[in-house]
Amino acid sequence: MHIDIDHALCIGAGQCALAAPSVFTQDDDGFSALLPGRENGGGDPMVREAARACPVSAITVSETAS
Ligand code: SF4
Repeated sequence: MHIDIDHALCIGAGQCALAAPSVFTQDDDGFSALLPGRENGGGDPMVREAARACPVSAITVSETAS
């Protein structure tokens, strides 16, 4: 799994960090950031829920071969 956050779209709503706090956090400016080492989602099934919850669809989750 690979997670992309489009920081040009992110409005800092924080829904991603609420939905999947083991993967997403918010930086000092309130914008979404991935926790270190969680760029692949860490197997957390809530990652897709976080992507759905984002009001501006800034989160893209894609499957990777490995
Ligand atoms: S839910 Fe979307 S808009 Fe809100 S902080 Fe996360 S990526 Fe940004």
